[in-house]
Amino acid sequence: MTLDLAGVGIGPANLSLAALAHPVAGLRVAMFERRKEFRWHPGLLIEGATIQVPFLADLVTLADPTSPLSFLNYLRAHDRLFPFYFVEKFHMARTEYDDYCRWAGDRLDSCHFGVEITGIDWHESAFHLSTAEGEPVVARNVVLGVGTSPFVPEPLRALVSDPEAPVLHSADYLTERERLLAAPSVTVVGSGQSGAEVFLDLLRHRHRPDGLRWIARTVSFAPMEYSKLGLEQFTPDYTDFFHRLDESTRDGLLPSQWQLYKGIDSDTIAEIHEELYRRSIGGTWPEVVMTPGVEVVSASLDAGRVALGLRHRQQNSGAGWLADAVVCATGYTETPLDRLLGPLAGRLVTDERGRPVVERDHRLRLEGVAGSVYVQNAERHTHGVGAPDLGLAAWRAATILNSVCGREVYRLPSRTAFTRFGLNTEDE
Ligand SMILES: Cc1cc2nc3c(=O)[nH]c(=O)nc-3n(C[C@H](O)[C@H](O)[C@H](O)COP(=O)(O)OP(=O)(O)OC[C@H]3O[C@@H](n4cnc5c(N)ncnc54)[C@H](O)[C@@H]3O)c2cc1C
Repeated sequence: MTLDLAGVGIGPANLSLAALAHPVAGLRVAMFERRKEFRWHPGLLIEGATIQVPFLADLVTLADPTSPLSFLNYLRAHDRLFPFYFVEKFHMARTEYDDYCRWAGDRLDSCHFGVEITGIDWHESAFHLSTAEGEPVVARNVVLGVGTSPFVPEPLRALVSDPEAPVLHSADYLTERERLLAAPSVTVVGSGQSGAEVFLDLLRHRHRPDGLRWIARTVSFAPMEYSKLGLEQFTPDYTDFFHRLDESTRDGLLPSQWQLYKGIDSDTIAEIHEELYRRSIGGTWPEVVMTPGVEVVSASLDAGRVALGLRHRQQNSGAGWLADAVVCATGYTETPLDRLLGPLAGRLVTDERGRPVVERDHRLRLEGVAGSVYVQNAERHTHGVGAPDLGLAAWRAATILNSVCGREVYRLPSRTAFTRFGLNTEDE
């Protein structure tokens, strides 16, 4: 059978698309995930951690609040609407988001787990997706939702992949947590949300009060932008504006917007401060080290410990210390698509830096192919900071669905922000 749409990966992005595609009569959709079941960043489901967007940013609501796969309907299915009503928490626990998505995935026949897609090629009139399990998938259109991969700075890269070295990425935090709680000293590197959550968890639960250090390249442990108008940069209106800018302007803009996605939630900052304050009662300073402005310039093994070479970026001074374990909370990068799209390489139109050109409806620009390959969360360079944001997931999935169907399956509003991004040349 030739599918109308085949999806690679089932994270929130393709799950949202599967949920919105579910009621579309006659549309043949199948999504494939290499994991055996839905899991959302399992190594970082730290107790107490919440998602950074309100629950309305579930899989469907911002495109279709009537969908049976909404978060509210998940609560109703578990008879938890009254407790939710009284708890008055707009930002659900990360464990709850994971459970909600698994519940939605279990209700969708289109979602297939335990299938890894290894390559995508075009033959005559359809895409052929090869699978690690053998049986290929044939589809007129494809959507890639393969997510992001852990990023580790160069000096620490070799040690993270060395099984003997006590160096890990925060994506594996919960697997190693017990060892980290017991280790005489731990250094956490990175001042994003993951770094702050790992530091807070270790601060609260480590078996000894000393030995915990937190360093980051950023000039401060900075809060994430969460002002009402700042958040309008996570709207389709802003995406439209960003997409119309030229490539070099977009590339220049993205690093300047780091606080929209690389900062720390101000509640987490407050919790860290409160924990430290509590420890200072009685007049002693907590025995932890927290220093921003510091980058790791070298790392090597020294009798089972990690020797870190450090540089302060503003002071231009160097130092070093030994750590019994290092957690790299150093973020994620978009998963490279070249392995999956290898067979299509000659047909793929790229920009000046060799990245795929992505149309506004999330379609890759391909030559000599009648079908479309869409991407979700691989288009920050063309669609801006909102590309990985859960708040835009339902809207993006509806956009892709409308494009695949060639008609307006979901009506999307023509305006989504109070801010008007860009000058209208017709304005006086
Ligand atoms: C810890 C963490 C917390 C976050 N919290 C928030 C938040 O609160 N709010 C927010 O807006 N954003 C958040 N984000 C950013 C973003 O929303 C998430 O990363 C989100 O999971 C992205 O969804 P996705 O579907 O694009 O990718 P993923 O969730 O990474 O899913 C991709 C899936 O594809 C599968 N896959 C990959 N390759 C293949 C293949 N070849 N064949 C089959 N399957 C494959 C993977 O196994 C994976 O399950 C967070 C990110 C992280 C890391």
